Amino acid sequence: MQTGKIGVTSENLFPIIKKFLYSDHDIFLREIVSNAVDATQKLKTLASKGEYSGDVTNAKVRVKLDKDAKTITVSDNGIGMTAEEIEKYINQIAFSGANDFLEKYKDDANAIIGHFGLGFYSSFMVSERVEIVTKSYKEGSQAVKWSCTGSPEYSLDEAERSEVGTDIIMYISEEENGFLDESKIRSILEKYCSFLAVPVVFGKKKEWKDGKQVDTDEDDQINDTNPAWTKAPVDLKEEDYKNFYRKLYPMADEPLFNIHLNVDYPFNLTGILYFPKIKSNFEVQKNKIQLYCNQVFVTDSVEGIVPEFLTLLHGVIDSPDIPLNVSRSYLQSDSNVKKISSHINKKVADRLQQIFKDSREDFEKKWDDLKIFIEYGMLTEEKFYDRAINFFLFKNTDGKYFTFEEYEKLIKDNQTNKDKHVVHLYATNAVDQYTFVEAAKNKGYDVLLLDDVLTPHIIQKFEQKYPEKRFLRVDSDVVDHLILKEDTPKNELSWEQKDELSPIFQAVCPENKDYYFLVDFKELGENDAPVVITRSEFMRRMKDMSATGGMSFYGDMPESLNLVVNTGHPLVKKVLEAKDKKLGPKLEKLAAEISAKKAEIETLESARKGKKDEEIPQADKEKLSDLNKELSKLEETKRESLTAFGKENKLAKQMTDLALLANGMLKGADLDRFVKRSVELIK
Ligand code: ADP
Repeated sequence: MQTGKIGVTSENLFPIIKKFLYSDHDIFLREIVSNAVDATQKLKTLASKGEYSGDVTNAKVRVKLDKDAKTITVSDNGIGMTAEEIEKYINQIAFSGANDFLEKYKDDANAIIGHFGLGFYSSFMVSERVEIVTKSYKEGSQAVKWSCTGSPEYSLDEAERSEVGTDIIMYISEEENGFLDESKIRSILEKYCSFLAVPVVFGKKKEWKDGKQVDTDEDDQINDTNPAWTKAPVDLKEEDYKNFYRKLYPMADEPLFNIHLNVDYPFNLTGILYFPKIKSNFEVQKNKIQLYCNQVFVTDSVEGIVPEFLTLLHGVIDSPDIPLNVSRSYLQSDSNVKKISSHINKKVADRLQQIFKDSREDFEKKWDDLKIFIEYGMLTEEKFYDRAINFFLFKNTDGKYFTFEEYEKLIKDNQTNKDKHVVHLYATNAVDQYTFVEAAKNKGYDVLLLDDVLTPHIIQKFEQKYPEKRFLRVDSDVVDHLILKEDTPKNELSWEQKDELSPIFQAVCPENKDYYFLVDFKELGENDAPVVITRSEFMRRMKDMSATGGMSFYGDMPESLNLVVNTGHPLVKKVLEAKDKKLGPKLEKLAAEISAKKAEIETLESARKGKKDEEIPQADKEKLSDLNKELSKLEETKRESLTAFGKENKLAKQMTDLALLANGMLKGADLDRFVKRSVELIK
């Protein structure tokens, strides 16, 4: 029997393995099983070269759990090791610079394991003792047993093993005895080993017998050794892709499309990516891509590894160039990973372009489910934007789809305003904004339906990229003002008339904590509605954006709406007449007093022009301040009487309610009153 000390630096290694590698203890099993898989594959290679004449057709890895002995054993029928090889591969784990490295990365377990091929030693995270019983494929090899308790001392001894291959026997330590659980081991194997290329067997298949689950004779194989992504695309049918998707995500809806990746230059990469249907709450759908290295599962949290928007995709990426076992930060900075990421970016855009070109109809059908993904990509990856702008689709309120270019052509002639802006009109809800959409269509405009959570962001992006384009929601102004072809038509009411109408209409606006109204006047002609409600594009967009992150300042503010009074409408003139009838003499008197006061103030102010403050007599100062107070009082009285008049004026109220009704804003008691008033008015 031989005893010895494992390579020098391992004195530092063991405490680190035990102490710092606690972040993810599960991976010991992945390491040991993938070593076993490698060993069987190596033997196959040797056999194919004629260097081994034994049978390699039945390559297998067996995982056994023995609760009584408190062991987990991983056995393979691979190449095995000679005593010299154990010395070389297992004992000599010292390498130059190891101490420095350990010092630097001692907080980052995965980096240590990956960098140093310490895969095997990860078994010490969970074991108080590990034994290797192995017999090399080499002619006449003596089987040997290596045993180590996690201190640098080990023993190496002759052993019995009839077949070529290796058993790794892990004596699970007391504090890790949670691993002595069948379902736990099974779930770890399913996570990491589901698609390994060599059968991995864990126990026997079970069946129900006499109300109990009992073992059958059949091995329970964990993995599918030939997953879809390892096959050639020509050998796969649509159904095979769907089946594989279902295997990966049993609970998910059917995907929209898939991309089969197959690259062998400048790096190796295979995989299948799926476009899922994206719901508005897309955060939950992120990070479903599984990363593999030679069919060994590495991670399913790909954020930072692939571009943000691609994390919305599902599926599998497999590349031997993806380093196993390294930390996330290492993975993110790895140049291969970066290349892979930008390659996928390109492939995804290519594939979408191709589907768009080959079957636009199908693409349009799926657009609504796809658009969030594409918009997200366009917003976050400039390179993707440049490609996607060719297949990005606008959908209008009639359900027709246009590319960016096609749409420009469609609206350019009719929807360019006096400032040479091509105005894209859009609705975010075709039902709520129905009256506005209809009004715009009647005017010969086209109206888009832009109704997803990213809408405010994507139109912002378009406006930045193309300064001549404008996006306006149909209700951001009255229809005649949305796309002004020449300067604003003149309001035919005088300033005084508007000044008087303003408090009247303000008085009939609903009071509400969610929004407030500003009364505005526009000449819209007598065939248009007498009162229209619009919402400022700017304020509304800020509010919408605040709903998808940031700018909560706008989100908390009540919404500001415009109550636009159509000065060209006969009913509005009727309100003015009624006001004259009721308040005429009173207002005239007030107006006379107001202008007298103003004249007095004017005189006093012009007298003090050019004088310094101390040159003005105190009496004059007081006089001016009194006059100003009196003026405010008169104006207040005027406003009060107009407000009181407004509150009583059924016509103004009715017109305003009609506008509210058209916006779906008239509800409850107000709606009830409106209906009663309407009946009264038509009686
Ligand atoms: P890595 O696999 O990264 O090289 P490990 O520490 O996991 O590092 O393994 C070290 C070496 O030990 C392997 O390269 C291999 O030569 C040998 N080895 C480990 N497990 C087995 C096994 N089951 N059969 C044959 N050789 C093995």
